Amino acid sequence: MSCALVTGASRGLGRAIAVQLSKDHGLHILVNYASNEEAAKETLAEIQANGGSGELLHFNVQTKQEVDDALNAWREANPDHYISVLVNNAGITRDGLFMWMPEKDWDDVLNISTKGLFNVTQNAIQQMLRKRSGRIVNIASVSGMKGVAGQTNYSAAKGAIISATKALAQEVAKRKITVNAVAPGFITSDMTKDLDEDQLKQMIPMNRFGKAEEVAHLVSFLCSDKAAYITGEVVNINGGIYS
Ligand code: NAP
Repeated sequence: MSCALVTGASRGLGRAIAVQLSKDHGLHILVNYASNEEAAKETLAEIQANGGSGELLHFNVQTKQEVDDALNAWREANPDHYISVLVNNAGITRDGLFMWMPEKDWDDVLNISTKGLFNVTQNAIQQMLRKRSGRIVNIASVSGMKGVAGQTNYSAAKGAIISATKALAQEVAKRKITVNAVAPGFITSDMTKDLDEDQLKQMIPMNRFGKAEEVAHLVSFLCSDKAAYITGEVVNINGGIYS
């Protein structure tokens, strides 16, 4: 059975992407989460309510051993299942001016985004390479495209994801695996809940924050057969704030 692994699928964009991939492609969804099991169960319930199937898969993306143990054990228990779609979505922000930024805030943001991408992708891609097919979508950000003041750590992390996407896409294109990035602007979720939307929307040409479902539709398209010739690409989805 074809499966999609969505990291950080318990909440926000990850949840919307997990639900959309199930609806559009009938994939069995592996709902990864770090600590919020209740929220992950809600994602799974939403998938099942729409007639789809899935299961929870707990691991912290930044710990290679944890990622390998969880994925290898899942594979052993499910020899007829195969991860054909991987969405590297897990991410955090720890905003602050660079001059006062604690080292831990730099490390945590970089580790979850970039080390997380390495850990999960290196495990999942082996089978895609053998099967000669696969879809990988990495969730970047407008911060990785233009750089955002107060987010030097996050901008560095997302910029690295964009470059890694372009490089890996070239390595695996011959095996019919596509690797793309999506770069959202301000999207309503827990990550942006403390921001002043009324003030910030004034600088967004669309005059509003985006919805997680809007990002999910884009990711779902990139995971479809129709997107077979798109690889190494970064697609902005930001209401016109940056292009
Ligand atoms: P969110 O609502 O804060 O959700 C973050 C998700 O990531 C949660 O499911 C969380 O799991 C998971 N996570 C965090 N650390 C993890 C770890 N070490 N291992 C595994 N999972 C982990 O964030 P969001 O707004 O949906 O953001 C999702 C992605 O989109 C992130 O990469 C973010 O940078 C990117 N993005 C968001 C926006 C925006 O405006 N919202 C804009 C651009 C890009 P738990 O529930 O278990 O904590």
